[in-house]
Amino acid sequence: MIRKKRDGGTLTAEEIRFFVGGITTGETTEGQIAALAMAVYFNDMTMDERVAFTLAMRDSGDVLEWKSLNLPGPVMDKHSTGGVGDLVSLLLGPMIAACGGFVPMISGRGLGHTGGTLDKFDSIPGYTTVPDNELFRKVVKEVGVAIIGQTASLAPADKRFYGIRDVTGTVESVAMITGSILSKKLAAGLDVLAMDVKAGSGAFMPTYEKSVELAESIVNVGNGAGTLTSALLTDMNESLAPAAGNAVEVRCAIDYLTGKSRPARLHEVTLALCAEMLVLGKLAASEEEARAKLQASLDSGEAADRFARMVAALGGPADLMQNPDKYLEKAPVIVPVPAPQSGFAAATNCRAIGLAVVALGGGRTRPQDTIDFAVGLTDLVDLGQRIEAGQPLAHVHARTEAAAQRAIADVQAAYTIADMAPPANPIVYRTIRP
Ligand code: URA
Repeated sequence: MIRKKRDGGTLTAEEIRFFVGGITTGETTEGQIAALAMAVYFNDMTMDERVAFTLAMRDSGDVLEWKSLNLPGPVMDKHSTGGVGDLVSLLLGPMIAACGGFVPMISGRGLGHTGGTLDKFDSIPGYTTVPDNELFRKVVKEVGVAIIGQTASLAPADKRFYGIRDVTGTVESVAMITGSILSKKLAAGLDVLAMDVKAGSGAFMPTYEKSVELAESIVNVGNGAGTLTSALLTDMNESLAPAAGNAVEVRCAIDYLTGKSRPARLHEVTLALCAEMLVLGKLAASEEEARAKLQASLDSGEAADRFARMVAALGGPADLMQNPDKYLEKAPVIVPVPAPQSGFAAATNCRAIGLAVVALGGGRTRPQDTIDFAVGLTDLVDLGQRIEAGQPLAHVHARTEAAAQRAIADVQAAYTIADMAPPANPIVYRTIRP
């Protein structure tokens, strides 16, 4: 099989299943896996190979089953390739639940410059991201949404394969990224998946064209594997929310759900992804109808109520929405980042903004690192906004004065301030449908 792929051949579904089986059991050696990964990196996989690869990796561990619960709506989820200030999952899960969908969201931790949904939930005291299966199913059934972490039994072949790709220069293959992402998501037993593929200076994919290629691959393979899948290409040239960190993003989510503040770009990406899911899942006949339902779920407080019920059911405080300050840790040093000159916020190095949060202690440089939930950035100035010298570009939330000073310099360096306002970027570049 390694020779066949090395020489540009196409593997059969049976061959792929056999190979992935060996990854799971350990019979296939690390050297063989690395060799196949490099062969795929250079010679790629056809869509049929990608579907077989995804399904084999999905089936290497547990695949969740929801039929026996007789849920009165479709099982749906969203996945993002990762961003800065991207707290959409915290809003989308409860909003979809309020509109009749069921969201068993298995989310990941942050690594590199991007944040992770799981770390955000870990900043809520008492909330368990590792409930037993019985509690997970109960919360999905009764609340409509449960956001938890990945267990070792979910797509174990991907865990081993990714670890080897990571140290052999073979991560950057659209075929293998597709299989890796989808095997984990499809193991949740989904009817519908909306994929948020980011493009821009804070995106995982290096260029817009590569983001399009990944989005098209995921839509083809997701649908080929039996889950209704759409992908949205969304902008990640600046933090999606004005806040980036963990507790500060949970606070932003609470303010959004309770109506205190709905930042425009965050709102648009959330509505676009939710509407796509409602239409795919036949919970709305059109995008317009979906958006109206979603807005009603916010206006009525139903979405906020679902979030509150999920938090309480998974061990968090019952009054988190009413008293966020009582539970979400605040950093001891909160200081403004003065704009070094007057002008328009013309560009940000979004990756650098994410790395500034990591340097504050809000993210990891190694998987085993612990996180400081209280630190981060808030009030980040939007691109296109006029700013006078000395006015704040953001506020830094830091553990120490020294960390704050470093973050101030990082944020100042990440912003380009110019005499002219930049042309507005679209927020959703494209939607790719089945
Ligand atoms: N994220 C994943 O889960 N897998 C990849 O291969 C790349 C990003």
